[in-house]
Amino acid sequence: MACNPELCTVKPCGLMYKDITSDKGLIFNVQRFALHDGPGIRTTVFLKGCPLHCLWCSNPESTSPSPELITRDAKCILCGRCLDECPQQAITIVENKRTINWARCNSCMKCADVCPSRAIERVGDYMTVDEVMNTVVRDSSYYRRTNGGMTLSRGEPLVRWQFAMALLRDAKRMGLHTAVDTTGHAEWDVFAEVLRYSDLVLYDVKQIDARRHKEATGVSNDRILDNLEKTLTDSKVVVWIRIPVIPRFNDSEEAIELICGFVRTLPRPVEKVSLLPFNKFGGVKYPALGKAYNWEDIPLINEYQMEAFRKLVESYGFRADIGR
Ligand code: SF4
Ligand code: SF4
Repeated sequence: MACNPELCTVKPCGLMYKDITSDKGLIFNVQRFALHDGPGIRTTVFLKGCPLHCLWCSNPESTSPSPELITRDAKCILCGRCLDECPQQAITIVENKRTINWARCNSCMKCADVCPSRAIERVGDYMTVDEVMNTVVRDSSYYRRTNGGMTLSRGEPLVRWQFAMALLRDAKRMGLHTAVDTTGHAEWDVFAEVLRYSDLVLYDVKQIDARRHKEATGVSNDRILDNLEKTLTDSKVVVWIRIPVIPRFNDSEEAIELICGFVRTLPRPVEKVSLLPFNKFGGVKYPALGKAYNWEDIPLINEYQMEAFRKLVESYGFRADIGR
């Protein structure tokens, strides 16, 4: 399918056209037996590249639209092969520790190619639709028994919308239930195309206050809220709202009530509202990717507070869940 710059979802974040015109997508994980990304047992396909840059992101390997290096220091056997291979002289071994100077690294991946112990690995592989679907179909019998299926997740699946649509179309052709986990930040024309092949949308609503949304994610929420309204007007797809509950961002009754109030005004009901508590699972990945993590000292939201938020969501007439 030819690239249509008019429909390109990625212009605002400066990603490259060449990736979406390709017949391959950049995948950083295909997770079988996923239980939290839609109904039943599912296979979740994680696509790399996201137009948002949420400060708390627990998948920091998902945001860049290119393959990246990830390091695992405990696996390093100090063989020195990566040093010899690096054209940028970005790697040193000093006092039995291998270190990467990330500012020098140009992501050529030569070190990952030669590392014998997977102490340096590449995150993100270009895969064809067939390669992905060959894995997805392996669990068809589980999908049938549990009403499960395939979920496309972030990064943001709509960044490479043509590839995402091809996966969804193939899954529908195979009779599978399909779900898209999205930030909602895409051109509406693109979104509408993808919805044609989707049974369920897991739709993030993070904040109604536009200024705070932009400060914490890098983008305005105008398009996100607008697309949600259009989704419920122009399609019949089932929608689950997901609210990541983040300290000092939206962990207040006021912020949750604003979201519930907005969702209640939508043209038709959503099936449920899920509250996803802030976690630090991704914290260790930041330094491993050469990035800074600034949430180490931020306390988690306790379960009593989460339960109070759940009851608040229910008071608006929604079915409410925590964590899924
Ligand atoms: S990916 Fe970076 S660290 Fe590794 S060999 Fe290339 S320039 Fe050196
Ligand atoms: S090639 Fe791998 S194991 Fe050898 S020094 Fe480099 S990171 Fe360590």
